Amino acid sequence: MPGDQVEHTPARPSWDCQACGRPWPCDPARDRLSRENGRVELAVKMWDHIEEAARDMPQSPASELFDRFLRWTD
Ligand SMILES: [Zn+2]
Repeated sequence: MPGDQVEHTPARPSWDCQACGRPWPCDPARDRLSRENGRVELAVKMWDHIEEAARDMPQSPASELFDRFLRWTD
């Protein structure tokens, strides 16, 4: 088995996906997150990510972070 498979996880501090380079959470990451978490757990987890991302990317508007990290969970 190849040992270089990269997970769809965020690179810090850019929050681009380490596997596909798209803004995280990319589609594969969203699929996995919604499979592995209940609706409430998922929302709590994504709020934590928003707080971390806001510290890493203070130039990003809160509304943009909200759309990116939380809106898709509805
Ligand atoms: Zn990805």
